[in-house]
Amino acid sequence: MKVALVGIGKIALDQHVPAIAASPDWELAATVSRKGSVPGVPAFSDFATFLAERPDVPVVSLCLPPVPRFDYAEAALLAGRHVMLEKPPGATLAEVHELQALARDRGLTLYATWHSRMAHAVAPAKAWLADKAVHEAHITWREDVRKWHPGQDWVFEPGGMGVFDPGINALSILTEILPQPVHLTKARLEFPANRQTPIAAQLTFTGNVTADFDWRQEGPQTWDISVRTDRGELALRMGGNVLEIDGRPMAGENSIMGEYPALYARMAHLVRRGESEVDLAPMVHVADALTLGERVTTAAFDF
Ligand code: NAP
Repeated sequence: MKVALVGIGKIALDQHVPAIAASPDWELAATVSRKGSVPGVPAFSDFATFLAERPDVPVVSLCLPPVPRFDYAEAALLAGRHVMLEKPPGATLAEVHELQALARDRGLTLYATWHSRMAHAVAPAKAWLADKAVHEAHITWREDVRKWHPGQDWVFEPGGMGVFDPGINALSILTEILPQPVHLTKARLEFPANRQTPIAAQLTFTGNVTADFDWRQEGPQTWDISVRTDRGELALRMGGNVLEIDGRPMAGENSIMGEYPALYARMAHLVRRGESEVDLAPMVHVADALTLGERVTTAAFDF
């Protein structure tokens, strides 16, 4: 199947292009980006022109930041294309509901991807927890924004979600593996004095579930989830790629390279079956944190 990549920036080049190149299902048939391109692939700088000139490309994969993404997704669906969305699936919940309705009415596939759910140890963690009673869980998601989003001011603009841009990856795993749903009851959000979105957040959910997100961690990075149950303790490390039960390694490998190939395999499956997959549970928690959260002003941040 032919696919066009839209928004040739960091994640498109780091993950989407290699995943498509390695896939037996996909051919990268075009790119759309104001500045970016991929050697050997026809490049468009305007999305409407691409849609008009390339009716042979049935699928578009949108790698733009969340705020500009809706207009592209809507135009693609109106032009009869199947759409794959980077995470988070939109800037607001309501706009994603609109896209879902558009896709449903037109019989098109809409896939809101959560790459961290494809990490090696997430499915084994879910299976292990399925018959356990969860007593307590904690997420520690601490990374260096300068390393992962160098110069990307959009993350600190309204709709950029700040530290929830990585934090939503943790929430996508949490909502996938917990046998019972939880909801947010309290949040403390730290906003740099010169920015519109939080650089750190501490969250409290029902069921003794807590989360600590921080974008100021230099040195070793931490993407861990620990869950205490009636029959032992589970730890997911390395962003869901390594599983430990009671301190002993059980599954996974220390590499994120399988996540995007798995997303493209899933998209191929959904398109073939004429299905959509849009789970907004991780984004509901972020929206709730931004609704309920206590705001604290912290030191100004510059890249
Ligand atoms: P990015 O490099 O800053 O932006 C991606 C591309 O989007 C840019 O190259 C730009 O292309 C286009 N773009 C940016 N703002 C635009 C606007 N206002 N209108 C139209 N096009 C615009 O961002 P990224 O890091 O790749 O992240 C994109 C998405 O992937 C985000 O939702 C992020 O959460 C997700 N993601 C990122 C990472 C990561 O490690 N960075 C990891 C996983 C997922 P042109 O200027 O050439 O048009």
